[in-house]
Amino acid sequence: MAEQTSTHSLFDLTGKVAIVTGGNGGIGLGIALGLAGAGADIVIAARDPVKTAEAMLQIEALGRRAVSLPVDVSQEAAVKRMVADAVDSMGRIDVLVNNAGIVARGEPQDLPVADWDMVMNVNLRSAFMASKEVHPQMVKQGGGKIINIGSLYSIFGSNNSTPYGASKGGVVQMTKSLAVFWAKDNIQVNVLLPGWITTPMTQGIPQAAPERYKTISDRIPAGRWGLPEDMAGAAVFLASRASDYVTGSSLVADGGYSAN
Ligand code: NDP
Repeated sequence: MAEQTSTHSLFDLTGKVAIVTGGNGGIGLGIALGLAGAGADIVIAARDPVKTAEAMLQIEALGRRAVSLPVDVSQEAAVKRMVADAVDSMGRIDVLVNNAGIVARGEPQDLPVADWDMVMNVNLRSAFMASKEVHPQMVKQGGGKIINIGSLYSIFGSNNSTPYGASKGGVVQMTKSLAVFWAKDNIQVNVLLPGWITTPMTQGIPQAAPERYKTISDRIPAGRWGLPEDMAGAAVFLASRASDYVTGSSLVADGGYSAN
């Protein structure tokens, strides 16, 4: 019994505060609910107020405090404000989840350069800005956890979005550099690589590209696409004391897809 209690406390997030960008839907909400379930209070930083209001209710239903901060993570001033407002309203920041992301699909030769900029800004540049911004607060608190969200396209070349693949590859390398720089500050920086997860980003694939959907589905050893809640356990691990000696690493959660 005593052993169970101590194992549980490794993953306990009671008293911790986590910012989740894009935490109002899809994988971000799955992670936010997982962290809240482990005891954390949550700052949801996203754009759509309707989705955010609904997400706040779900977090509060778990007995946790939720604060919403409207932010476009591609804007530096907005990211700075997000971090300052999070400290003002919650008093601390223990965990930053850089989850907000977008995709611009298309053949590279046809893709507007503006799409490249937009995807890189939202998926990669924003994660750098937010990490940089939380750093002084985490140092002040004696440490912290940064969880970036990559993709299987951090590993594989993408056959449907060049900027997406580039941004997600960049997220892994940025994670390693931040981990190296900030280990001395007791800040662990890791990246979660979700497999194929059914969310607003991917839910159109079965109808729009049935063959692609079948090829993907056939390769998943677990026999199903993931759900946002499938990302919660990995996120709690990376947010908790259980991962204090884990930094700069990529954790794949894909039902076995990349091993197959
Ligand atoms: P969703 O489209 O459901 O979620 C994306 C989230 O990002 C939304 O909550 C959205 O909030 C937010 N967001 C987008 N742009 C901005 C912005 N400029 N500023 C603030 N928030 C923004 O997709 P997923 O849940 O699937 O994606 C979440 C993350 O997981 C992304 O980084 C994605 O690349 C990654 N991923 C997804 C996989 C999948 O199979 N679904 C696989 C691997 C990785 P709002 O609507 O309020 O703007």
